[in-house]
Amino acid sequence: MVIQQPFENASPAILSAAMALSTIGLFEETGAYLHGHFRLTSGLHSGEYLQCAKVLAHPDYAERLGHELAGKLSPLISQLSVDVTVAPAMGGIIIGHEVARALGTRSLFTERDGVTNEMTLRRGFEIKPGENAIVIEDVITTGGSTKEVVRVLQAAGANVIAAGSIIDRSGGRAEVGVPRVSLETLEPVTYQPDDCPLCRAGQPVIKPGSRRT
Ligand code: ZN
Repeated sequence: MVIQQPFENASPAILSAAMALSTIGLFEETGAYLHGHFRLTSGLHSGEYLQCAKVLAHPDYAERLGHELAGKLSPLISQLSVDVTVAPAMGGIIIGHEVARALGTRSLFTERDGVTNEMTLRRGFEIKPGENAIVIEDVITTGGSTKEVVRVLQAAGANVIAAGSIIDRSGGRAEVGVPRVSLETLEPVTYQPDDCPLCRAGQPVIKPGSRRT
């Protein structure tokens, strides 16, 4: 399998500016590394939050992260040929597409049924039995969404080889049922809402994510 080098066709200015930054550096540079007082999807409070969409809003950076993630996945993929990359909507779509570009696979996404809330493939997206698949997400926290996508693909008869994310916020502990990689593994400090120093300081709490609770 051949992984294209990131920025093969990029201008020298973009190349030097972006290559100098680490993954977290890209988050800082694009204002995607938020500092404040946040209520996470889990209900816990935290003083920081990574808003992947703000990095992925820059196509050059999205492409670079996709190439890097594809490179990290390559030892897991080994000699297999990957047919399809699948990501959970919304957060996974852009990075899934960029990983698919780097690996030369189709790029599909799952979404939640409006009534049952179950993860499903819609829009005529098809998986053939025996196809080799990988699952890509922007941020893994518990691994729940990735695990649901893995199950959807396995139910369709696919061979799910591996999963990947830009950020692993589980400190490396999230299990998704298949081997997994990420570009950055973090373990953010979180607080129970009734024992949060930011609450005690009177700082208003905001909910930055996109998932309905
Ligand atoms: Zn708080």
